[in-house]
Amino acid sequence: MFRRLRVHDIKRMCAYASALLLLAITGCRTVPCQAPLTDVAGVYQYSTLQALIEGVYDGERTLAELRRHGDFGIGTFNALDGEMILLDGAFYQVRADGAVYQPPLQTRTPFAAVVSFTAEETWELPAGLDYAAFRDWLDEKVGGADNLPVAVHVRGRFGRVRTRSVPAQLPPYPRLTEVTRHQPEFEIKACAGRLVGFRLPPYLAGVNVAGYHLHFLSDDLHCGGHLLDFETVGGTVEICRRHRLVLDLPASEAFKAADLAEDKQADVHAVER
Ligand code: ZN
Repeated sequence: MFRRLRVHDIKRMCAYASALLLLAITGCRTVPCQAPLTDVAGVYQYSTLQALIEGVYDGERTLAELRRHGDFGIGTFNALDGEMILLDGAFYQVRADGAVYQPPLQTRTPFAAVVSFTAEETWELPAGLDYAAFRDWLDEKVGGADNLPVAVHVRGRFGRVRTRSVPAQLPPYPRLTEVTRHQPEFEIKACAGRLVGFRLPPYLAGVNVAGYHLHFLSDDLHCGGHLLDFETVGGTVEICRRHRLVLDLPASEAFKAADLAEDKQADVHAVER
């Protein structure tokens, strides 16, 4: 009796195991064995540079909402109130007075690009590069013909850094080319800080800056802004490529009414220098 029961039990266990194995196999056939698309990290872009150029300076997204899409990125604030840096999950606002503020998470943005940053590749930053030479150097490292969005993070020491910010505007808003004609610029000598931003492929021109768009934040949190030029002393450069781009567009009347049909690349060059 005891022996028969044991054989019976073993047979029953084998039947269960076969059923579980079959379930596992058929389960894998019918349920995709990969993460759902919503979990795939990508670049999250709110509104477009072209809309910003046309004076769409008020958006609906809060910093708290942006933070759900990444811990690293750049942008601006409603009314065009300074340059945004999102770094290690914290937001910084470099206003037209050149000082760095930490804005509340209810603050809204009309334009931003963020990503969850994880360093895929790291290089030492050579000394003696200005911004143009840095772009050529990094293009070679990353691959000049790379058609993917690349997030760029530099921890650097610099002989000098030149930045700009933009003053808050009152409606009716002027075009961005008008604002940047009178932009405050800052020359920062011998400093350490971080560069945060992206190298985006040419086909994203108009959505954001095609090529490099970087913002600077000094390690002492005293200065920063939209990067215009620098001279490197040393540091490290990290990048991560992303295969996914989420473009979130404003629902505002200002966005709907903005003239976004024409190629505004000449205006992009004017506001980025
Ligand atoms: Zn910028």
